[in-house]
Amino acid sequence: MTEAPDATLRAGGYRITAQRQLVLQAVVDLRHATPEQILSHVHRQAPGVNLSTVYRVLTVLEDVGLVRHAHISTGSPTYHATEEAPHIHLVCRDCARVQSVPTSIAAALVTEIDEGTGFLADIGHAAIHGRCRECRSTTKPGAEGSD
Ligand SMILES: [Zn+2]
Ligand SMILES: [Zn+2]
Ligand SMILES: [Zn+2]
Repeated sequence: MTEAPDATLRAGGYRITAQRQLVLQAVVDLRHATPEQILSHVHRQAPGVNLSTVYRVLTVLEDVGLVRHAHISTGSPTYHATEEAPHIHLVCRDCARVQSVPTSIAAALVTEIDEGTGFLADIGHAAIHGRCRECRSTTKPGAEGSD
């Protein structure tokens, strides 16, 4: 169905390099990962790679549309492969677990923003912060609503 990553890189005017293949594979394997996490994954096979290389490669991969990033934590952006269906990240502020839900869940919101303001929201680029079911169920009485 989808074009092979190699063909996508070539179509974008980029050469296929071992580093680009390793970083893409790391993103696919880790599903959601910061550049730091990608680096330590890549290091298992290529100890010579450094963080600025990972950032450069991610920029290339994002440019041709093989990966995307979202702002999930306050630190580095989190990358995922675009072979995954478009999704919104739900981040639990208690246990930091990240869940994915389809962007279609927010279709009405996106449409309403578009119709009201002409602004096309890139809903997958942000994360929705809150508390997951497990953490909510273990909340002690009185702690509800605390931030
Ligand atoms: Zn961003
Ligand atoms: Zn994601
Ligand atoms: Zn939680």
